[in-house]
Amino acid sequence: SGDAASPEEEVIEAALRPKQLDDFIGQDRVREQLSLVLHSALRRGRTPDHVLLSGGPGLGKTTLAMIIAAELGRPLRISSGPAIERAGDLAAILSTLSEGEVLFLDEIHRMARPAEEMLYMAMEDFRVDVVVGKGPGATAIPLDIAPFTLVGATTRAGMLPGPLRDRFGFVAHMDFYGPAELEVIVQRSARLLDVRIDDDAAAEVAGRSRGTPRIANRLLRRVRDFAEVRTGGEVTRDSARAALKLYEVDERGLDRLDRAVLGSLLRKFGGGPVGLSTLAVSVGEEPETVEVVAEPFLVRQGLLARTPRGRIATPAAWAHLGLTAPPTAPL
Ligand code: ATP
Repeated sequence: SGDAASPEEEVIEAALRPKQLDDFIGQDRVREQLSLVLHSALRRGRTPDHVLLSGGPGLGKTTLAMIIAAELGRPLRISSGPAIERAGDLAAILSTLSEGEVLFLDEIHRMARPAEEMLYMAMEDFRVDVVVGKGPGATAIPLDIAPFTLVGATTRAGMLPGPLRDRFGFVAHMDFYGPAELEVIVQRSARLLDVRIDDDAAAEVAGRSRGTPRIANRLLRRVRDFAEVRTGGEVTRDSARAALKLYEVDERGLDRLDRAVLGSLLRKFGGGPVGLSTLAVSVGEEPETVEVVAEPFLVRQGLLARTPRGRIATPAAWAHLGLTAPPTAPL
């Protein structure tokens, strides 16, 4: 997605990742539910139900998958929907899993169809049919696989076919984090990165992180850079504000993409309604990026609404961008 981590960022993310459920901040309900699923399975000596994690980019799905494997004391195999182009790709993974291994499939909604059908059977019966040969002579050879736990992640739970969704025993919906939780995350990351940051500055960074830990960690590094070069080290509220201004993150945490989407909706389409793909083209982005990365936050902020007729801006959107709504605006 448009908000994916760069390779360099992934190294830092790995260092900042909580390793156990107890260190995972926020998402209290998900954490408690998941803890029950895992610990009851451990108690019974069984592999737990398959787990589906749904939520926007950077909310901690990969982190949770790693934690699940760690809590179970099992190895973790990582792959993703787009990497599985043919059923054979999936068969190669499934047939080499060890007993109880955790298989993390990121962006599971983007897996190829034949692979998806193979996955149904694997999830349910721990068995796959490997098709050998082509045409009328093709034969399906059944192959037992070790019991495993699938952890699927998706930014779009609504895109998953029903039969796939139904095979997950536990579905966790991850929502945006609150400012207090993000503040704890910022302080924890600052400790791990040896950044000195005062409480006001941590709150400032948290409040502008779009409810997203990945962004909180990203902004923390930017305010650190700024403080190191310009003000001699410790991050204070003033230096944090100046840095965030420089990086075009506004007081509500809207970034460049958010403002582009909102600005286009207001200036080019008079506040809407306008269809998703038209809106996306107008800002030069993929519809999926606009839908998955920008919109959930704008909706959450009460700046944009999704209606059956298209996207519309709320009165707060006009106010936030300092524009006046035309008298003919729908709201
Ligand atoms: P994507 O779908 O884009 O891959 P993701 O949902 O898998 O994103 P992660 O990679 O798990 O997100 O998390 C991004 C970063 O945020 C990581 O560095 C991780 O340390 C941090 N993070 C996520 N959730 C938490 C949390 N609850 N507490 C502390 N840090 C967190």
